Amino acid sequence: MKTAAQQWPRMADTSKMIRELNTIKERIASAAKGSGRSPDAVRLVTVGKTQPVERIREAISSGAEIIGENYIQEAREKFDQLVQLDAQWHFIGHLQRNKAKFAVRMFDLIHTVDSLRLARELDHQARKIGKVQPILVQVNISGEQTKSGVDETQALELVQGIVELENLRLEGLMTMPPFFDAPEKARPFFEALRTMRDRLAHQLKIELKELSMGMTGDYEVAIEEGATLVRIGTALFGARQ
Ligand SMILES: *Cc1c(COP(=O)(O)O)cnc(C)c1O
Repeated sequence: MKTAAQQWPRMADTSKMIRELNTIKERIASAAKGSGRSPDAVRLVTVGKTQPVERIREAISSGAEIIGENYIQEAREKFDQLVQLDAQWHFIGHLQRNKAKFAVRMFDLIHTVDSLRLARELDHQARKIGKVQPILVQVNISGEQTKSGVDETQALELVQGIVELENLRLEGLMTMPPFFDAPEKARPFFEALRTMRDRLAHQLKIELKELSMGMTGDYEVAIEEGATLVRIGTALFGARQ
């Protein structure tokens, strides 16, 4: 039995997290409404990278519905301990083909498919466990050398290849714009992803409903430009070590 003094800091932490999560959800809703969209059209992905499992547990019990993770090994440790909790798990990091097996077992959505070789391996691993794996294609919208993702020409080819794969379900696109000190500067990149999504959907006559874009510094602008998934870590957990 813990004493009240031992319990108090954890309780205080949890109520702080509930408040912060609610603030983020309110800002998401008001950015959606302000641009004529339904607040339900935008889902929050709580980014847990580098956060210990107890913080993730606390986030889920405070109302985080989707946990985003960047590293397979780190995600496996958290997933094993928290799998019974009512949350979805999304993969948002760079995925190596030799980790595809683990990715399809854990994740409800993989945001970062950037090659047909990776897509084929995910399809193969998903088939082995009888799953149709939801995915997004990661686009390098700024063309920066340091960023993963495909350009528009490659995106067209990749999407054409993916739609042939029976155990993958393509739901949309994801991007990370360059880092800016002012969120407005990211707006053209978010707009470009939405335009690319519209063109691809039209050309290939497919539905691509998800746009995963926007992080702590710029998620309201991303929502104004059509984001359906915003990926937020720092605004909830504070700066990473
Ligand atoms: C870390 C990370 C985020 C969250 O960034 P914050 O600025 O902490 O909100 C979002 N997306 C990806 C792909 C990330 O790696």
